[in-house]
Amino acid sequence: MSTDDIRPELGMRQIINVSGTMTSLGASIAVPQAIDAMHRTLPQFFDMSALHRYASRVIADLTGAEAGFVTASCASGITIAVAATMTGPDLLAIERLPDASALKNEVLILSGHMVSYGAPVEQLVRLAGAKVVPVGQATSSSAYQLAGSITESTTAALFVVSHHVVDYAQVPLKTFIEVCHARGVPVIVDAASEYDLRLFLDQGADLVVYSGHKFLGGPTSGIVAGSKDLIRACYLQNRGIGRGMKVGKETIVGVSAALTAWKTRDHAGIRARERAALDVWVNALAGRPGVTATIVPDPTDNPLDRLKVAINPDEARITAWNLATRLAAGDPPVIVRDHEIEHGHFFLDPCNLHPQQEHAVASRLIEELAKATLSNDVIATPIEEVWLARERAVLDWPD
Ligand SMILES: *Cc1c(COP(=O)(O)O)cnc(C)c1O
Repeated sequence: MSTDDIRPELGMRQIINVSGTMTSLGASIAVPQAIDAMHRTLPQFFDMSALHRYASRVIADLTGAEAGFVTASCASGITIAVAATMTGPDLLAIERLPDASALKNEVLILSGHMVSYGAPVEQLVRLAGAKVVPVGQATSSSAYQLAGSITESTTAALFVVSHHVVDYAQVPLKTFIEVCHARGVPVIVDAASEYDLRLFLDQGADLVVYSGHKFLGGPTSGIVAGSKDLIRACYLQNRGIGRGMKVGKETIVGVSAALTAWKTRDHAGIRARERAALDVWVNALAGRPGVTATIVPDPTDNPLDRLKVAINPDEARITAWNLATRLAAGDPPVIVRDHEIEHGHFFLDPCNLHPQQEHAVASRLIEELAKATLSNDVIATPIEEVWLARERAVLDWPD
């Protein structure tokens, strides 16, 4: 960790993040190239349209797309991508959004893709003034349902790639694109957390949206890549609904630097370091009563493994969620990946660790598990109470 940690000055605690690239924790560790580039950018003036043109070339180089556009977040990128398909380069239509009543304004999305990444993905569509048309059921969708949902008003179809989506019985991307393209409907892919910057465009997607602040280690931003016409229409949204989602010079330069650094990043070295962290945890947990630790691959095929820690509360004397809560309440707080916690397991994600933090995580796990084994009663808050307490806690801000 950097020695000039600003957190003590702000009264903020240190956090050890083993949950992944979580926006709620500040997303990721920015790469030094992005930090340096932003530092050197902030005091200067730029011709912003020329700077956007520069970023477009950087995005094109990395993704293989014709052009690219930087906006505030992947979330903004999806709204802007939808808007672009509706307005094209029509400046008046751009100013009239979110009134899209005179435009093609229906966006198809598989019901199993209508997830929350912290906010509902379909709201991003409505924000542009478009209407959401769900396709199929949450647990299944078929090509005929997609084809039958296309009308004269269909402006685009949105495909979400995420560990949150229902991962079985869904129309695969290749078929999704074939069905849509047969009817001239452009496909937008939400690839917020995906490492592969080319795959979805190679498969024929028209616009692909990534987060700049997740695996890329850039500043908070969204990257839209695609055809020149559609990307121009994205850029032009900054004269309309994109204005409130715009990025400044430092973000454009910072995310461009992160993209360039991605090309030369030591991916194999990082993988080896992450593997070493997983091994530390596997060893620390070996033989602990009621604990089963398994290395599992990333559900969307990113080159990233995590440790799945399953807890049998009768033997460990604590539930998975109580353990996660204790880890988070400790000093330093250790935040685990807990989106499936009611199943009695959490994950440890090694992709956002500073050097040596894997050992602190191991120590805290051992400490809490050892404490629990001495407990007469199983430490078990009913899961219903946990959910309701979390819901209430949302409203606690600012005090
Ligand atoms: C994180 C995420 C988003 C939102 O990304 P931001 O860049 O933080 O707006 C959207 N979709 C998916 C699938 C995500 O994982």
